[in-house]
Amino acid sequence: MQSMHYLKNYINGVNCDALSGKWIDNYNPSDGSVYAQIPDSSKQDVDKAYSAAQAAFPAWSTTTIDTRSKIMLRIADLILENLEGLAKAEAKDNGKPLSLATAVDIPRASANFRFFGNGITQFASKAHQSVGLNTMNYTLKQPIGVVGCISPWNLPLYLFTWKIAPALAAGNCVVAKPSEVTPMTAYLLGDICTQAGLPAGVLNIVHGTGPTAGQAIVEHPNIKAISFTGGTQTGAHIARVAAPLFKKLSLELGGKNPNLIFADCDYQKMLSVTLKSSFANQGQICLCGSRIYVEETIFEQFKKDFVAKVASLKVGNPFDADTKIGALVSKSHMEKVQGYIEIAKQENGTILYGGKPVEVTGSEQGYYLQPTVIEIQENQCRINQEEIFGPVVTLMPFKTEAEALKLANDVKYGLSATIWTSNIDRTMRLSKDIQAGIVWVNTWLNRDLRTPFGGVKQSGVGREGGFEALNFFTEAKNVCISYQGNI
Ligand code: NAD
Repeated sequence: MQSMHYLKNYINGVNCDALSGKWIDNYNPSDGSVYAQIPDSSKQDVDKAYSAAQAAFPAWSTTTIDTRSKIMLRIADLILENLEGLAKAEAKDNGKPLSLATAVDIPRASANFRFFGNGITQFASKAHQSVGLNTMNYTLKQPIGVVGCISPWNLPLYLFTWKIAPALAAGNCVVAKPSEVTPMTAYLLGDICTQAGLPAGVLNIVHGTGPTAGQAIVEHPNIKAISFTGGTQTGAHIARVAAPLFKKLSLELGGKNPNLIFADCDYQKMLSVTLKSSFANQGQICLCGSRIYVEETIFEQFKKDFVAKVASLKVGNPFDADTKIGALVSKSHMEKVQGYIEIAKQENGTILYGGKPVEVTGSEQGYYLQPTVIEIQENQCRINQEEIFGPVVTLMPFKTEAEALKLANDVKYGLSATIWTSNIDRTMRLSKDIQAGIVWVNTWLNRDLRTPFGGVKQSGVGREGGFEALNFFTEAKNVCISYQGNI
């Protein structure tokens, strides 16, 4: 019998229970068992975390950049030193293949701290001399104070640290909440930060549900900025709550990203990358290309080749080395995704492959679903318009570039898009006109952390990444000094 893990909040450098003494069950999606309990935090816990952060702010915000940077880099090193344990914890908590957590999630969490630990040393302000007016302006980039970071379950430590690292590097103190569905690696991060020498109270991690603990962060009158990644509906709600409090907001929300495939592309490269962009992390990446549009002349060939590749993906326990598709994150999410497969049938979609749950030997109670490919007749059908966020893609042919563009933009989301073509003029035209924050051409999920990241339309407001994130987590203050004489 497995022993139960009791997770703690991390407040003022100390691991502690929720003040209410209440707990929430935490599931292992690969076998459906409850394997941990997490604190069911309330407003009182958020207030406690805020007080710790506020008390730590004067010292942290005036710590030298060199010292701050060294602590960030030490956290990055310690994450890598703990790679194996963190990757196992992530795979167990989320259901993703251990190979993916080991190769991508945990290294990227480390890279986030390394990137912003180095980045802060290059984050400079500008000066503007007004010749003739005899004034000199300079801009101070000042930390905001106590900021809130709220993250989702799909890339747990990867996205949690993507927010926390720039916030801390810029000199803020943080109250952060990971998803209640995948709290484990955020919990483990607390100890790593202590070991790295992060002073008590600079980072506070509060576990709990969105409507209670998350909402308390958003509603807190003195938490002055919120960096949120999650669903579009939640984002809209957070924007409504934060607006009267005049908080700075960064909202990274849902996606329903087009993948435009032209006959002149590098076909073999496109096939293998499209397999990843469709089903990596069980299709639970906001950037997955879930709407696939293929030029009519190669549509039948693509269907045949793609379905054959999809059929070769092994669905299995996240800890098996050859597993390509692990478990979906929760029972309720599995039911939601299956619900969309039923909707597809009502909408006259043709299921070319998949659509059924998979019983994995030894893990019969886990949440496994076949990768699913559905040919659709209408761009406007629900499965092609609503974010499913699972291993389900739609497929549709197009005749012309103009039609492809129209189909790509005919959706309320605008996070990313992928174009497959060898025609440079087409690349330039489409990249300009596609409504998305990120466009990949002949590649997918290639990320340089210096580049801006974010969505348009209902995929969000604001940009993260590089100096965009450091700008978000600072206030720009202009100082104008009048001087005498000529300089
Ligand atoms: P979610 O919106 O349900 O939850 C995200 C986080 O918000 C969780 O920590 C949750 O507890 C919290 N939350 C929920 N209600 C809240 C409230 N009222 N106040 C404050 N916090 C609240 O999203 P999810 O299901 O965890 O994640 C999946 C979604 O995230 C998908 O829509 C996906 O596209 C999106 N996502 C977007 C990006 C991006 O960068 N654009 C990246 C990853 C995931």
